[in-house]
Amino acid sequence: MKPLGPIPEGYQTLDGELAVGGRTASQLVEQAGQTPLFVYSAQHLDRRMAALRAAMPDRLGINYAVKANPFEPVLRHMAGLVDGFDIASDGELAIALAAGIDPARVSFAGPGKCDGELEAAISAGVTLNCESEGEAARTLAIGERMGIAPRMAIRVNPEFELRGSGMKMGGGAKPFGVDAHRVPDLAKQIIAASAEWRGLHIFTGSQALNVEAIIETQGNVLKLAETLSDQIGAPLPKLNMGGGFGIPYFPGDEAIDLAPIGDALDRLFDQLPDNLAETDFCIELGRYLVGEGGVYLTRIVDKKDSHDLTYLITDGGLHHQLAASGNFGTVVRRNYPVAIASRFDAEPEEVVNVVGCLCTPLDRLADKAHLPAAKVGDLVAVFCAGAYGATASPAAFLGQGPAAEILV
Ligand SMILES: *Cc1c(COP(=O)(O)O)cnc(C)c1O
Repeated sequence: MKPLGPIPEGYQTLDGELAVGGRTASQLVEQAGQTPLFVYSAQHLDRRMAALRAAMPDRLGINYAVKANPFEPVLRHMAGLVDGFDIASDGELAIALAAGIDPARVSFAGPGKCDGELEAAISAGVTLNCESEGEAARTLAIGERMGIAPRMAIRVNPEFELRGSGMKMGGGAKPFGVDAHRVPDLAKQIIAASAEWRGLHIFTGSQALNVEAIIETQGNVLKLAETLSDQIGAPLPKLNMGGGFGIPYFPGDEAIDLAPIGDALDRLFDQLPDNLAETDFCIELGRYLVGEGGVYLTRIVDKKDSHDLTYLITDGGLHHQLAASGNFGTVVRRNYPVAIASRFDAEPEEVVNVVGCLCTPLDRLADKAHLPAAKVGDLVAVFCAGAYGATASPAAFLGQGPAAEILV
């Protein structure tokens, strides 16, 4: 038997089934007309944002990293909750504009922006987080040709990273951002050119559950911003301090405590140096805002024994749930939180392997999980499915196609 990850708070039982927004798993599947299905909970998103707002200083803006979940109803909902949006392609720009988001609230980071993407962003009035000197030069040239002053910030590749974060994105050579020591020269060029200077973006990592590490990194980010601003010789209009707040996916993971992070930021904001006194600060979060608010429902289509193992074979799989299958940036596969959604209140009775319908041994949703006795036709829930599920999985693999998605 292998343990399962912790089921996020806020999920209820109704008529013995898992319920989201007052509707049972079967009702949700009926409403959507199919499995597999991603269900996102508006109430969950609201609660998460309310907790963040309560813990963080008023002065701190909260941005949503669209790549975590670009489903349009989710974006529209987030538009009423967050201060800004971070996008990473012209595809995400188009989705954000279609969702009615004001481009003045949007910033665009990403190491390989094509000329067409720069044009689209400049004409929309989105802030570009420049990832290199070459990209900055192209941006200025395109802005000149279009007769529009581009809004430009610089993404910094800092010499430190967020300790214990799932994905290391700072420290040493990186395709992301401009090495810190080269930032002042580039910033001076941007300010001297006909661009609107928007400050710095310092992203140091993702999926951190270590509160001390988050606090230490935010302190380092502010120190680096102060130093760079001094060297640039101009105050920073904006500082995107990155994010990195993680969520518990695996057995033993614990949710981060927001209060000490907010308190530490309060203290930092109380003693800001002159060149940061007027700065707009924000953090950018993806999975922390939406990850636990989503659940993936898939139906058991076969139950079979092989040697000493029982398999629950579902109509879903890694083509929608690459991360839960253990194939998206993990070294050792561990179980996500998984449950039998149609028997949510039943006691565990058997040890089963829950797998997807793809013809590959990689397609695993839960290994040796202790679950209630399930039958063909029952629904399986994979939690923590609100971020990097639908769009970070190879939906076209084996001709399967995308899952349905609903926001309730
Ligand atoms: C992916 C990404 C994020 C969001 O990361 P989460 O772990 O989902 O919070 C934020 N900022 C940048 C620059 C990113 O690349």
